[in-house]
Amino acid sequence: MKKYLPYGCQNISRSDLKIVRDVMKSEYLTQGPTIEKFEEIISNYCNVKYSVSVNSATSALHLGCLALGLKEGDILWTSPNSFVASANVGVYCGAKVDFIDINSKSYNIDPNKLEIKLVEAKKNNSLPKILIVVHYAGQSCNMKYIKMLSNIYKFKIIEDASHAMGGEYMGRKIGCCQFSDISVFSFHPVKIITTGEGGVATTNNLKLYQIMKTLRSHGITREKKMMQLAQDGPWHYQQIMLGFNYRITDIQAALGISQMSRIDEFIRKRHSLAKYYNKILKKFPLNIPWQDPNTFSSYHLYPVTIDSKKFSRLDLFNLFRKNNVGVNIHYIPIHLQPFYKKMGFKKGDFPEAEKYYKETITLPLQTKLTRSDQNKVASILSLFFNKGENS
Ligand SMILES: *Cc1c(COP(=O)(O)O)cnc(C)c1O
Repeated sequence: MKKYLPYGCQNISRSDLKIVRDVMKSEYLTQGPTIEKFEEIISNYCNVKYSVSVNSATSALHLGCLALGLKEGDILWTSPNSFVASANVGVYCGAKVDFIDINSKSYNIDPNKLEIKLVEAKKNNSLPKILIVVHYAGQSCNMKYIKMLSNIYKFKIIEDASHAMGGEYMGRKIGCCQFSDISVFSFHPVKIITTGEGGVATTNNLKLYQIMKTLRSHGITREKKMMQLAQDGPWHYQQIMLGFNYRITDIQAALGISQMSRIDEFIRKRHSLAKYYNKILKKFPLNIPWQDPNTFSSYHLYPVTIDSKKFSRLDLFNLFRKNNVGVNIHYIPIHLQPFYKKMGFKKGDFPEAEKYYKETITLPLQTKLTRSDQNKVASILSLFFNKGENS
C-alpha cells in the first residue's frame, strides 16, 4: 500500500507508551495526582500562574467564557477563519456571536477592523463582553494592540491558542496571558502535543482559575473556604454552581506529561520542515505563510494560497488526494456554516476570510514528515503548475 501523508498527526514514542502504562497500573485513572503534575508542567512552560486541564479545548473555551461571566444577552466576537468551536462556545452561553474579518497577510483578526467595529458598537451600545482571538496556524495575533483596545472598550480576551502551543509573541510563550485573561490549548492528535482528546485553560487570575476548576467537575468543591454552608462532616462536598463533567483522565495527563518533554523537539522539527518548504516552493506561483517579526510560530499548519482566478484549487486538492497526500482546507468561514447562516450571516459579510477560503490549501506538516515526503509534495505541485519535474 502507498504511504498516506496526513496534513497533521500525532507522534507517539516508546517513552510515551511507558508512562501511560505506568499510570494505568497505578491507583488513579482519573482525578489523581498526574493531572496536577501535568498542569504544573504547562504552567511552568508557559510562565503562567494557573492551568486547568480538561477533556477538550472546546470545554476549556466554554469554561473560560463562563468564568468571565458570559450569559444570555451578552455579545462575543471571534474570527471567522477558525474551527466552529471558537464561536459555538458563545452560543452555549446564550450570547450573541459576531465576527471580525481577518488581515490579508496574517489571516488573523485584523486589529484595524476590530477597532472600526468597536467604535460602531460603542455608538449602538452593543460592545462585546468577550473577544476570542485565534492564533491561526500557530502564529500569534497582534495582542499588544488588541489589549490596548480592550483597555479602552472594556472587553475580556480569550486566546484560542489551540494551534499555538510552543509559539511565542514578543519573546514570551503563548499561554503566558500577558495580553489576555485566559489562553486555551488543544491536545487533539493533529495539534502540537496530544492527549488523545484534551485541552487546557491558562490564566494569571486566581478567581478565574477557581471558577474554571470548579466548573470542570459539576460545580462541586471540597475546599472549606469555598463552601457556602456549614459542613456536615469530613465527607462533605458542596455544589456551589452548575458545572459539567469536563474532566481529563490521569491516563491522558500521563501522555501529556510525556509529550511535554518532547515539545521543544516537535517545534524544532516543525520549523525545519517549514524552512525546507519555504525553499522548495519558491519557484511556484503560490504564497507561503507570511511571518510577523513579533511572532515565533508553532507551525501547526502550513497553508499556502494560489490565485483562484488562474488555477483551480479543487483540481489541485484532488490531484494531491489522488496521490495519497492528505491536504486539507483551513477554514470554511464559520459564518457560512448553515447553523450560522440561519442566524442571519451571509456571503459577503467577511470578504477577506471568504477570499482566503477560496485560495488556501494546507500542505502536510507534522513531525513524522521527511524531506522525501516534502519533495513528493513539491513534485505534485510541479505537475499541477505544468512545469515538469526538474524546473
Ligand atoms: C482544534 C481546535 C479547537 C477545538 O479543539 P478540541 O480540543 O478538539 O475541542 C478549537 N479551536 C481551534 C482554532 C482549533 O483548531
